[in-house]
Amino acid sequence: MPGSHRSPAAHRAHLDALNISRLTPEQALGSLHTGPGGLAEAEAARRLTEYGSNTVEEMAGKPGWQRLLEQFGHFFAIILWIAAGLALLAYVLQGDPAMATLGWAIIGVIVINGVFSFWQEYKAEQALAALRQLLPLEVKVRRGGVVYPLPASQLVPGDIVYLEGGDAVPADCRVLSAFGLRVNNAILTGESAPQSRHAEASHNADPVLGGNCLFAGTSVVAGSAEVVVYATGMRTRFGHVAHLTQSTADTVSPLTRELARLSRWVALFATALGLVFLSIGHAIGLPWSDNLLFAIGIIVANVPEGLLPTVTLSLALATQRMAKRRALVRHLPAVETLSAATVIVSDKTGTLTENRMRVLDVYTLGRAHPADTPGLPAVLKQIAGQCHNLLASGNGWIGDPMEQALAEFAGALPQPPSLRRGELPFDSERKRMAVLQQQPDGLHLYVKGAAECVLPLCGMLLMPDGEQPLDAAGRDRLLAEVDRFAERGLRVLALAYRQPAALPLDESNLVFAGLAGIEDPPRPEVAGAIATCRQAGIRVVLCTGDHAVTASAIARQIGLLQGDGKVVTGDELERLSDTQLQLRLDQPDLLFARVTPEQKQRIVTVLQQKGEVVAVTGDGVNDAPALKSADIGIAMGQRGSDVAKAAADIVLLDDNFATIVDAIEEGRAVYANIRKFLTYILTSNIPELVPYLAFVLLRVPLPLTIIQILAVDLGTDMLPALALGAEPPAPAVMNTPPRSRQERLLTPGLLLRAYGFLGLFEAAAALFAFFTVMYAAGWHYGGTVPASTPFYLAATTACLVAIVLGQIVNLFLCRDSTVSAFRLPLRNRWLLGGLAFEAALILSIVYTSFGQRVFGTAPLAAADWLIALPVLLAMLLADELRKAWQRHRPGAAADTRRGMG
Ligand code: ATP
Repeated sequence: MPGSHRSPAAHRAHLDALNISRLTPEQALGSLHTGPGGLAEAEAARRLTEYGSNTVEEMAGKPGWQRLLEQFGHFFAIILWIAAGLALLAYVLQGDPAMATLGWAIIGVIVINGVFSFWQEYKAEQALAALRQLLPLEVKVRRGGVVYPLPASQLVPGDIVYLEGGDAVPADCRVLSAFGLRVNNAILTGESAPQSRHAEASHNADPVLGGNCLFAGTSVVAGSAEVVVYATGMRTRFGHVAHLTQSTADTVSPLTRELARLSRWVALFATALGLVFLSIGHAIGLPWSDNLLFAIGIIVANVPEGLLPTVTLSLALATQRMAKRRALVRHLPAVETLSAATVIVSDKTGTLTENRMRVLDVYTLGRAHPADTPGLPAVLKQIAGQCHNLLASGNGWIGDPMEQALAEFAGALPQPPSLRRGELPFDSERKRMAVLQQQPDGLHLYVKGAAECVLPLCGMLLMPDGEQPLDAAGRDRLLAEVDRFAERGLRVLALAYRQPAALPLDESNLVFAGLAGIEDPPRPEVAGAIATCRQAGIRVVLCTGDHAVTASAIARQIGLLQGDGKVVTGDELERLSDTQLQLRLDQPDLLFARVTPEQKQRIVTVLQQKGEVVAVTGDGVNDAPALKSADIGIAMGQRGSDVAKAAADIVLLDDNFATIVDAIEEGRAVYANIRKFLTYILTSNIPELVPYLAFVLLRVPLPLTIIQILAVDLGTDMLPALALGAEPPAPAVMNTPPRSRQERLLTPGLLLRAYGFLGLFEAAAALFAFFTVMYAAGWHYGGTVPASTPFYLAATTACLVAIVLGQIVNLFLCRDSTVSAFRLPLRNRWLLGGLAFEAALILSIVYTSFGQRVFGTAPLAAADWLIALPVLLAMLLADELRKAWQRHRPGAAADTRRGMG
């Protein structure tokens, strides 16, 4: 239980707090030395130094040393341990000191590689943590009589805070006043059914049972409340527990699984190859030591040592690029899932539209008028100006943009909340809200909401000559007026009232006052983004709570609906079985209107049953289930509720649909990049392997030593591979359909290109260089040379240099699988940096005495650098020809994006 984690100070604070539920709201304020206007700024600042910031100390994850150790235990590392073990065994059995050096060198490699991976992982985590910092939790606080947004970390005891449905409770709070307040205390009690909370004093001394306190880590499901903070940070009752549950939700990504598969595959391949050739070696009578050396060589050559850290880092880099494009990735695997997205289920308001609203026209007294017409009925403005949950802040308001538009239309500052006697808050099921306001002449009931949800409650209609009865035909006429506004893409809200009214609040027998036609223009960049989706084979399904006609008008404006289109409303959806819905979804121009969040979740699930990879947007508290069940949940950074953000994989800082499309582009790019460096890294395995085959099968001196293999895998290949991971998205990336979800990272095509094509050329270049130097020095086939002979050292050096030069050429070939290397612009600075590093490294390996000692090299004559050139030119030419063929063969387009072929 949480109690056991509590520090003594927190425990005392907890005891102090016990009484808070017994106090009246006034007494509670008094006990915290604050008042209805909130704390003065100076006092708040003083309390912040005294009580500390309202944050929970980072949960200690696995300790660093443990995670470092884990790096030495994964699959590739284990294979290398075996290689090192074999070398040391050979030393023990035969006493050859070269074997001991080799064993230690391989262990050194494991250590360096482990530390490097650990560091990369750490950097990737830092990058994610930094992204989270970009999205601080904000609360609406009242201090010195003014309401304003404040980072939740700055809250102090005594602060007055306003909460509504979807908000995370930022600290332990006592309720001062509330309407329809319901909270989800699952974290505290395990009970996920919403519980209502009130402001009255309780007999129960325990704040949890008193029913008038809210706790950090829980969330508000519905309603609104004014609360006073009584405990913050580590002194809160359950804050640190909430933190625990938040940080443990990491899942194994498909990419991780895929890489595990890849490493198993490589290990199997290496072992099998090793065994086959060991037996061949044995059969042809190769000495023990040669045989062992050979086995170790095979293993080391086959393990793509640099692969794992490179993958992690390129994903982390992608999250940073996405953040620059205003999409915050909360879970690393989402980057890769994005690349496979086939459907985006998007809401409308604020995502496709600007969410900058303005009342354009109203319909009242039997006809339509521009909103600025003088002499509109006072009651219409009263409803618009008072039926809302805005908070006055300075000269303006904080809250829902639509309510702001209505308040602006009413031309009045909101009434002080003290005049509110009752409220039925808005929720997406009821699609309306009602308030009971105290006016000089008694209580008035004001209702606003979707016309279909308000009109059935109206028995009267406001006309120039007073209130008239409203019958079914009259309601139909009004619904036709709604359509007329909606056809122009306006959001339509019905306004109604009853006076006098009484407590308890009941919404029947209303008088219909009028309709407000609210403009919310589409975002300018959305039409382009929709067109991009169409090119990229990504379907966009509009799924809105708004009116069907408004929805299709906006859909048409942004190019989402081209033909007639078909709108399915929430009511129709209820009557469709899953199978029927699945069939409906085959129709291309389909959109959903007046749907509830539950229905949205159903649409997501049915799309998934059709095999789609679904990204879904959401902002409300009820959207959390849809966000969780989709493949990619996307929450809105600005208008999204805390609950939605916590459930999402990605948060859009600008709430903009176009940003989703940018993020998909980055996701696709990173997937293509991983394949690029996979091809690159795997290619060099072949020229590393073939010398060993030659050594065994042709009985020639070993053309490449194991240390030299490691110089390539962990030295010269490393930065260029990272640079391929940082390639910008190719222009073609959004011109082709999404990859199939079944498609593997490692396809036969990729393997064939790396092992069976590029790798063979490099192997030919390497052996050609080796034998050229050997023959030039007078060696002939069948002759033996001691390992320290200068010309033999020079020959292995020439072999190593040929591989490195081959990888330099290969770097350019791997940048795209079908576009000519000469047509790719050199915008990637990492690439040039990687090349410079590669060149510096190989030069120091060949020409410094330290490099020569460690890697067993000898200085090469300038001409020897050129030996492999003809073969490498042939490789370049052959790959260009292959690319040209790929580009022109039928069905080539689909492969272009994948960076494959
Ligand atoms: P989207 O789902 O695309 O974001 P939306 O904002 O219209 O669109 P909901 O928030 O589910 O979707 O709202 C549904 C309907 O409820 C709205 O079309 C409107 O008629 C009504 N409505 C929305 N907000 C309020 C509110 N604050 N008070 C009263 N009625 C509202």
